[in-house]
Amino acid sequence: MPKITRVQCIRTRSGGTWVIVKVHTDQPGLYGIGSASDHYRASTVVEAIEQSLGPKIVGRDTGDIEDIWQSSLTSGYWRHDSIWNTALAGVDMALWDILGKEAGMPVYRLLGGPSRAAVPAYAHAAGNTLEELEQDVRRYLEDGWIYIRCQLGNYGGGGFLTPEQRRRPENARPPFDTPRRAFDDEAYLDTIPQMFAFLRDRLGFEPKLTHDVHEHLRPHVAVALAKAVEPYRLFFLEDLLPPEHVSYYWHVKQQCTTPQAMGELFVNPAEYLPLIQERLIDYMRIRVSKAGGITPARKIAHLCEWYGVHTAWQEGGDNDPVNQAAAMHLDMNAWNFGIQEENHFTEAELDAFPGHAVTKHGYIYPNAKAGLGLDLDETKAAALVDPERLKRHFYMAEDRRPDGTVVRP
Ligand code: MG
Repeated sequence: MPKITRVQCIRTRSGGTWVIVKVHTDQPGLYGIGSASDHYRASTVVEAIEQSLGPKIVGRDTGDIEDIWQSSLTSGYWRHDSIWNTALAGVDMALWDILGKEAGMPVYRLLGGPSRAAVPAYAHAAGNTLEELEQDVRRYLEDGWIYIRCQLGNYGGGGFLTPEQRRRPENARPPFDTPRRAFDDEAYLDTIPQMFAFLRDRLGFEPKLTHDVHEHLRPHVAVALAKAVEPYRLFFLEDLLPPEHVSYYWHVKQQCTTPQAMGELFVNPAEYLPLIQERLIDYMRIRVSKAGGITPARKIAHLCEWYGVHTAWQEGGDNDPVNQAAAMHLDMNAWNFGIQEENHFTEAELDAFPGHAVTKHGYIYPNAKAGLGLDLDETKAAALVDPERLKRHFYMAEDRRPDGTVVRP
């Protein structure tokens, strides 16, 4: 059995926000890679791996995947937090990669084999006006995509007041000020159903459309929105509620049939178990690395299967090609797979990950290579990093109401 000799972190992308974990072994040429990326706290994750997780597992057999995960989970007593889960995931994915290489099989075959030929993905269409959005949706439809997320500009778009509509307090001052834009969730409640009415009128009901609320609404407005978009038969409505208010999904399910997708902020089973068991969501959207890797994610997928919940692992803008591959292998196998979110990689970024998954006309395709199927070209990965951006700190955008109250993102 190969033994772990070293756990290395490699930061890449221009701001160094992608953390790729490389687990080295005592077998010549045998190593695995995993994703431990965190757009906002990359250096914290690196420290967790280099100062705690890595030293703990050096010397272990690479095939002890389950025990390494379980014993590392509780190795700092407190567990199920976003940083530690991400660190665990980086190592866990790399160990599955090594196991696949030893077996000479893609990871999805180790998980039980394929349930499908390729993985359907949903696209991100956006526009600042209804017409621009329609054009963007049509661009994807013409390219063969079936599932399309529709947004009016950035998250919260459709709920931002114009400078004329916005009534700021006389003493508005930073940070309790909204010089750029102010969010009003009742405006959002008016606009988004109109957006779907417009799109269905122009495009019909064949395209499968989704929308991401990104938790911007107060819970009672969220319930009203889910009900208001019901006639437009969404594929799903995403992150209607913040994790603090998931109990409102009970009201949503009483009120309407709009399918609900949630999970990208979840890190702790206590957050999502009730939603699955009570069948309050239809799509589970945890990011594989934030769940703690392939080991816990496959268990979540299996649990969801028995409750009729489908998977839609979160991808999108921040994720790296290794996390995309991990999600894709889970998707290839899980019978109750629903959809995978598209990523946004530049050519140069993909070039640093030879063997990366290929997204084409709305499908993500795995290759026949053993393990996760992709590698990291460390020279190209290093060349992606901008030393100035590496020094920067990244934070979520702050939207505020007209009176200055911060809106949860
Ligand atoms: Mg989202």
